[in-house]
Amino acid sequence: MEKKRIHLSSPTMHGDEQRFVQEAFDTNWIAPLGPNVTALEQEMAAYTKAPHTVALSAGTAAIHLALKLLDIGPGDVVFVSDLTFSATCNPIVYEGAAPVFIDAEPDTWNMSPQALERAFEKYPHPKAVLCAYLYGTPAKIDEIMAICEKHQVPYIEDAAESLSSTYKGKHTGTFGRFGIYSFNGNKIITTSGGGMLVSEDKEAIEKALFLATQARDPARHYQHSHIGYNYRMSNVTAGIGRGQLLHLEEHKALKQAIYKRYQTGFADIGEIGMNPMNPDGDANNWLSGMLIAKGSSVTPDQIMDALAQENIESRPVWKPMHEQPVFAACDFIAHQEDGSSVGSDIFARGLCLPSDIKNTDEDMELIIGVVRKCFGRA
Ligand SMILES: *Cc1c(COP(=O)(O)O)cnc(C)c1O
Repeated sequence: MEKKRIHLSSPTMHGDEQRFVQEAFDTNWIAPLGPNVTALEQEMAAYTKAPHTVALSAGTAAIHLALKLLDIGPGDVVFVSDLTFSATCNPIVYEGAAPVFIDAEPDTWNMSPQALERAFEKYPHPKAVLCAYLYGTPAKIDEIMAICEKHQVPYIEDAAESLSSTYKGKHTGTFGRFGIYSFNGNKIITTSGGGMLVSEDKEAIEKALFLATQARDPARHYQHSHIGYNYRMSNVTAGIGRGQLLHLEEHKALKQAIYKRYQTGFADIGEIGMNPMNPDGDANNWLSGMLIAKGSSVTPDQIMDALAQENIESRPVWKPMHEQPVFAACDFIAHQEDGSSVGSDIFARGLCLPSDIKNTDEDMELIIGVVRKCFGRA
């Protein structure tokens, strides 16, 4: 018999989604715009306390528009997290600007304030600092923002993975000039595909809406004085998002419980560490990660192979951007003085464990047992 598939992180639907989608069908609001889109924007604003929000077709689109709104273009430099998913930095290249990759630090696996300081010595005038919150863990936001303020450079938060995570009691995504969220299929809540751009700047969000809807000037005919995009979220997908948002806190609690379950399950194995938490934050634990101690003979590949044997999905940690062939020509600023990369070390020793909130107790026990066995433990 085929073994049950255990997923890394798959969508979890509740039924409320269908209610909002049905409403869209019943009222024939199938086109973009419509009551669900506006409502999702308002509900997300109420939840995150971000004053202004615009619902978009993807988190990547939200990052792209944030860069457009900061007038980033050819010849500009943007400091960006190195240890992240490529969607964080691709939009920098869409605009012809140059990403400079900033290494991770070991305490939260996010952008290193030390490396960021050093980057300013080499490139005194970047146009923005763009930081992702890996696997939902907030970065050292105060330190990073203090550096940005000192150099008067806008801070953009890629909170695609960290929706519902807080730092010192405030939602990630609401600290910088712009914050972005993703509702992609594997994120903590999903609209199947979608994203959101948030800001305190009302005018900027209005301009984002204008750019996201083909940049039509106010006129009866089609009049354009800017290049526009088709980046708006549809009323159907927004309905899914509204249903999901009702269950976000519940998803977060379940994700946190998964992390704690792994932590307890590996507590007696000195060779296993979990992805670190920021003591100033309350992370959503979107994905639970583990790190194998230096000098261990066990490799992430061995563990992933052993899990795959049981039809259990796991993943390597994001491969650092400065190691990606497509970004080979871009500069990288290391956390360590000696130039060695913390992100590369995490990539070499880490992996992401199944963090699906539909996992049962038996599933969790099975996963933990398989990993323990790799370390010669029952
Ligand atoms: C998922 C993700 C994105 C992209 O979001 P999409 O909605 O898939 O476009 C961006 N950055 C990070 C860190 C992500 O994990």
